[in-house]
Amino acid sequence: MKFNTKTIHGGQEHDKAYGAVMPPIYQTSTYAQSTPGGHKGYEYSRTHNPTRNALENAFASIENGNYGLAFGSGLAAIDAVIKLLKPGDEVVSTNDLYGGTYRLFTKIYEDFGIKFHFIGMENAENVDDYINDNTKLIWVETPTNPMLNIIDIKSIAATAKKHKVLLAVDNTFATPYLQQPLNLGADIVMHSATKYMGGHSDVVMGALVVKDKALAEQLYFIQNASGAVCGPQDSFLVLRGIKTLHVRMQRHCENGKAVAQYLASHPRVEQVYWPGFESHPNHEIAKAQMKDFGGMISFTTKGNNYDEAIKVVEKLKIFTLAESLGGVESLSGHPASMTHASIPKVEREKTGVVDSLIRLSVGIEDEEDLIKDLEQALG
Ligand SMILES: *Cc1c(COP(=O)(O)O)cnc(C)c1O
Repeated sequence: MKFNTKTIHGGQEHDKAYGAVMPPIYQTSTYAQSTPGGHKGYEYSRTHNPTRNALENAFASIENGNYGLAFGSGLAAIDAVIKLLKPGDEVVSTNDLYGGTYRLFTKIYEDFGIKFHFIGMENAENVDDYINDNTKLIWVETPTNPMLNIIDIKSIAATAKKHKVLLAVDNTFATPYLQQPLNLGADIVMHSATKYMGGHSDVVMGALVVKDKALAEQLYFIQNASGAVCGPQDSFLVLRGIKTLHVRMQRHCENGKAVAQYLASHPRVEQVYWPGFESHPNHEIAKAQMKDFGGMISFTTKGNNYDEAIKVVEKLKIFTLAESLGGVESLSGHPASMTHASIPKVEREKTGVVDSLIRLSVGIEDEEDLIKDLEQALG
C-alpha cells in the first residue's frame, strides 16, 4: 500500500459486529468475562481498548513500523521512552528542541540520575564526541523547533548502530507524509499527535512507533504500567484526522512555501527560517530525507526588538496567536515568551531563539488571505 492509501486504510478493518466503516468509540473501562480469563482479548481499557488499538495500528502503518502506541500527550510518549533508561544512563539530545521536552529531561529526569547532553546536530559527526559507555539513547528532533534546523537522520542512525545506542526521532513537525525516520534507520518514532496527526486543534495526544518486537514489548509494558493512555473518544478523533493527513500536508506545504517566499522579500524581515530555501544550511539533507518542506516557518524582524515582535503577533488576525501548531488554521507564536519561556534566555539565544523571533504554523486557508494578513501586521 502506498502512503495516501495507508492514511485511510492502514491497519484498519471494518467493525466485526455491524460492519461500521469507522471503528466505534468503545467508551468502556472494562469488558465482560464468561469465566475468569474468559474474554475476547480485552480486559481493561488502560491495557487495551479497541478504538485505541485501531489508532495504534494506523500509527504503525503510516510510519512504516510494526507496533504503534498511543498516549495521553506527546510528553507522555516521550516520558515512556525515557523510562527505558536507568540512573547513570546518558542521552545525547538535539539542543534546539521543544521546550516541554527540555523541561521533562532537565527538571524531572536529571533528578533521577539520567544525564543529558544537548548539542547541535546539524553536523551529524558532533554526536560521536558525546557517546560513551553509558550512552543509551540519542534523541533527535528534525526539523527543529523553532529554528527549522535539519538533522541528517541517516547519518545519526549509522552512529547509533555503530555504538549500539537507540535512536528516537520526534517526527511531529514533519509527519510521516514528509519523512519516515524508521526507514532511515531510527528505532523509535515519536509524535505529538496533538499537532498534524490530529490536525484540527481539538485533542492532545502522543504516539510512538517501532519496528522491533522486543522494544515494542518493553514500551507496551511501560504504557500499561505507568498508565498515560489516551481515551477512546480522542483515539477516534485522531484516527479521523489521519485520514486526511496527506491532503492537509500537501496544502500546508504549498501555503508554507508561498508565505516563506513572501516574508523573505519583505523589507522589515531580517531572516526567514524554512528548509525549502536553497540558502538553508542543510537544504540538501532536507531535500534528501523529506518529500517537501512543510508549513512551519520562523522569522525575525529587523532590529531584533521584543516589543515590535509582540506587536506583529498581536496585529495578526487570521494567524491566531496561540501555543501549538499543525492544525488546519494558521497560528502564530512568540517562542521567547511562549513555547520556549521555560528555557533560560542564554540557552535559548545560543540556538537562535532571539527576542524578535516569530514562529508561524501555516494552515490550509487561502494563500492570498494569509499573505494579506502578514502584510497588514508587518505594515
Ligand atoms: C507539542 C510538541 C511536543 C509535546 O507534545 P504534547 O502533545 O503537547 O504533549 C513534543 N514535541 C514537539 C516537536 C511538539 O511540537
